[in-house]
Amino acid sequence: MKLVVVGADAAGMSAASQARKRRGPDELEIVAFERGHFTSYSACGIPYWIGGAVKDRDALIARTPAEFAQAGIDVHLRHEVTAIDLDRREVVARDLTGGGERREGFDELVYAAGAVPVTPEWARVDAAGVFGVQTLDDGTAIMEWLSSAERRKAVVIGGGYIGVEMAEAMVRRGLDVTLVEKSAQPMSTVDPDMGRRVRDAICGLGIEVRTDTHVTGLETADGRVRAVVTDDGTLPADIVVLGLGVRPNTALAAEAGLPLGPTGGLRTDLRMRVVGPDGPVPGVWAAGDCVQTVHRISGRPLHAPLGTHANKQGRVAGINLGGGYATFPGVIGTAVTKVCELEVARTGLTEKEADQAGFAFVTSTVESTSRAGYYPGASEMTIKLIAERRTGMLLGAQIVGREEAAKRIDSLAIAIWNRMTVEEMTALDLSYAPPFSPVWDPVLIAARKATDEVHASR
Ligand SMILES: Cc1cc2nc3c(=O)[nH]c(=O)nc-3n(C[C@H](O)[C@H](O)[C@H](O)COP(=O)(O)OP(=O)(O)OC[C@H]3O[C@@H](n4cnc5c(N)ncnc54)[C@H](O)[C@@H]3O)c2cc1C
Repeated sequence: MKLVVVGADAAGMSAASQARKRRGPDELEIVAFERGHFTSYSACGIPYWIGGAVKDRDALIARTPAEFAQAGIDVHLRHEVTAIDLDRREVVARDLTGGGERREGFDELVYAAGAVPVTPEWARVDAAGVFGVQTLDDGTAIMEWLSSAERRKAVVIGGGYIGVEMAEAMVRRGLDVTLVEKSAQPMSTVDPDMGRRVRDAICGLGIEVRTDTHVTGLETADGRVRAVVTDDGTLPADIVVLGLGVRPNTALAAEAGLPLGPTGGLRTDLRMRVVGPDGPVPGVWAAGDCVQTVHRISGRPLHAPLGTHANKQGRVAGINLGGGYATFPGVIGTAVTKVCELEVARTGLTEKEADQAGFAFVTSTVESTSRAGYYPGASEMTIKLIAERRTGMLLGAQIVGREEAAKRIDSLAIAIWNRMTVEEMTALDLSYAPPFSPVWDPVLIAARKATDEVHASR
């Protein structure tokens, strides 16, 4: 039996490793193709490497091809899979170092090609200094550009979490940074009232934030980007970072005849088998940023390109194709990020998402502190809860605060996952001591206020 893996990062190599755990090299040959220079790297760590918090690029690499080889997993770096033939059960891979093409037969295939940055027409210029951030190769290219000459002005386009993390990275490298966002505030993954808090905080960090601003083009000269043109003026730039979101990298899979879901991602069943028009496609698995999943609260299909899901989905695919049994049950939209000292977290549904799903709901927002007010280092945080009218089921939560605020989202995520009501949450036995929280933890204060709102809605 032979397994071929397309894409050798989080999802692909989790699948390969789990399959190897269950089936030894005599039983299963494993061959992985990766078009980049690295395997099993943390794309999530790229902004922290660029910003200097992580000193060494290699620290972002969890396992090298040599380590995989020891486990009997054969990785071909700089090999791009250019075609998949499901009838002949083979892939074609091009050696990007100029070594021609090879054909590799397979019995089982894991498609884990990740996502690609959204790149509008105006960004497809033939000039140096314009970067998407998706792979460690992208991060390396940015580092080389920043090191090759004095760069002073950075423009980050897109105020999602990758945009704000990259804006912070550029500030830490001493650049003047402008963040351009077409909406009224950055971080559109939280509600506008919470996004406003993020915007106000970011503005205080030395990042110029231009909201309600549309980019219309890039100015270039001598093969280099020079400025970003917007409907509100021109912004000089030595480096432009695109943070406009990502889409599933599924062109190759679609060419092979695998149908895509409404989000553009591959559809899978709970075991991560790719689903075609007639049900699961035999021996074809997919995981990570290239698949669509389901939101457990709204019931809607969703593209949720996060490392936490990619690792879990890859693991599930690998267990199943190795002869075990595991399922990926969907997501609830939990995510966390920081920009300088500001932490932002969310889980469940935002107001807009709850509305689109058809829920009637109430919201409540509370201000509290991370520690007892008298204890040194206490900092403010805002928690917003969204609960279903009448039943009081917690539908969503968002947190904006300083140190130790964001990880409180995890207890709220557990409550949503287990369909708790805000009233049930008010009695939760959460820990307390002055260095860790006020006597009423901010989560409990938020649950109490939301309970009042739910009662008022009955
Ligand atoms: C800057 C940044 C910060 C992030 N921060 C977080 C975070 O804090 N938390 C979080 O949960 N997630 C975060 N993510 C998202 C997370 O990194 C991704 O969800 C995760 O890497 C997806 O894993 P994957 O294996 O599906 O895809 P990828 O990591 O994209 O790997 C896919 C691999 O496939 C290769 N490939 C593609 N096409 C081919 C082909 N035809 N042939 C051969 N190889 C191919 C690519 O080169 C790539 O290495 C971040 C991402 C970025 C870019």
